[in-house]
Amino acid sequence: METKFCENCGNKVAIDAVICPKCGRQLEELKTEENKSNASQVIINNSNIVDGGYKKKQCDKWITLLLCIFLGIFGGHKFYEGKIGLGILYIFTFGLFGIGILVDFIVILFRPNLYYV
Ligand SMILES: [Zn+2]
Repeated sequence: METKFCENCGNKVAIDAVICPKCGRQLEELKTEENKSNASQVIINNSNIVDGGYKKKQCDKWITLLLCIFLGIFGGHKFYEGKIGLGILYIFTFGLFGIGILVDFIVILFRPNLYYV
């Protein structure tokens, strides 16, 4: 049987022993517990996306979606995203003849609730 030595008392213990039988000191991390806690600690942090030092404009998906539906032909959702040029283009072309609105609607639908432009 493979053995190792307890760091605390020097007692010879089995290689897979977690606790020294002589002094009761914990020798190994409890691996199963560790894995369990790691799996449950999936940290999702997308609240502070900074690109090149300047903060991007945060947009709410649902506001954009509503603007696209009701004010799409006036480029309402484009103005909301800060895309003024495209907004003006949408006004003159009635939302790129409806095609632009349709494409935008689908694109917005698959965006996260908060996104950055
Ligand atoms: Zn020991």
